[in-house]
Amino acid sequence: MREKFKKTTIQFDIETCKECPFCRDIYTVGAGRADDFHCCHGKEGYVPDAVLRSYPKIMHYVEYSSDEKPVPDWCPIRTDKK
Ligand code: SF4
Repeated sequence: MREKFKKTTIQFDIETCKECPFCRDIYTVGAGRADDFHCCHGKEGYVPDAVLRSYPKIMHYVEYSSDEKPVPDWCPIRTDKK
């Protein structure tokens, strides 16, 4: 049995939400190869596609890295803007 550990807070620097563990992508409806990205912060477990589309959208129609956007101001875990 694994020993119980104290919770630890970590911080890391990212350039886009794609580097965040709370970011999930899903194909853009009607697009060939583009994806939309949604924020799943505060949600747990498996999220069906239909539900994921209702979560806050971070980026829309991302086909190339040049289509990506910076982390939004409303991000619930960013510490550089409060
Ligand atoms: S908005 Fe913040 S919490 Fe949500 S995916 Fe982006 S970096 Fe992660």
